[in-house]
Amino acid sequence: MITLVRRIATVCAYGAVLAACGAPHSLGRPSVPSSVAPWTAVSRMPLPGPAAPGLTPVFMNARTQKKTVALTFDADMTADDGPRAAHGEHFDNPALIEALRELKVPATLFMTGRWADQYPGEARDIGGDPLFEVANHSYSHYSFTDSCYGLPVLPPAKMRADVQRAFTAMRKAGVARPMSYFRFPGGCYDNRALRALGPLGITAIQWDVVSGDALAADAGAVARRVLRGVRPGSVVIMHCTRSAAPVTEPAVRKLVPQLRKQGYRFVKVSELVGVPGGHR
Ligand SMILES: [Zn+2]
Repeated sequence: MITLVRRIATVCAYGAVLAACGAPHSLGRPSVPSSVAPWTAVSRMPLPGPAAPGLTPVFMNARTQKKTVALTFDADMTADDGPRAAHGEHFDNPALIEALRELKVPATLFMTGRWADQYPGEARDIGGDPLFEVANHSYSHYSFTDSCYGLPVLPPAKMRADVQRAFTAMRKAGVARPMSYFRFPGGCYDNRALRALGPLGITAIQWDVVSGDALAADAGAVARRVLRGVRPGSVVIMHCTRSAAPVTEPAVRKLVPQLRKQGYRFVKVSELVGVPGGHR
């Protein structure tokens, strides 16, 4: 019973973190940054407009009249989830990747380094498919602010190393050219975090549409929420983690044809970031 209670508590805590990817956060208010990425093996990519010197730029969606939309999927696994995976919990979602391929939907995956360690074959496969781009979701999935939905907190002195470690893990798995885009765990950031990561030359990617797929049981409800929220230039947050987002694949199968019927074209985040006037 104790074990069961503990497990439920753990799952709920994890769900809260995923749900954390709930409302757009704009805790930080940087103006414009941009330095040259030190990652020689990182793909070159569009950067948003100028930001405050030394601060990581933050992108949320694109200001455009064109009906384009980026579906993004966080491949979440924390540094502490190894034992859960060993007990059979699935942090991956191959059926979702297959659905995106069948539907020919370009997408951006934000992968934790721990996820890449656990699923190197899938990481390599996704990273080698031009339909997708793979970006960084930290190694540990710890919080980059003092408080973020109960996540363990990463001190500022360790933030940069955690992000670098994720790039290393992805490359080790076989993702040859990860994008230098970064999604903060839980979407939580502040100016301290933006400054700590500034020297890396990465761009933080938030979102303007919450799918609500975390711990959802009704694929139709997730699809409807996305359909209600999407505007030209939107970034939608979803998850590529079977155990904590079990209906994402059927939700995608429902919402993709509907958005296409409305005239939307699916793009990767890099295409939206490249749109002039994309805003934080
Ligand atoms: Zn996450």
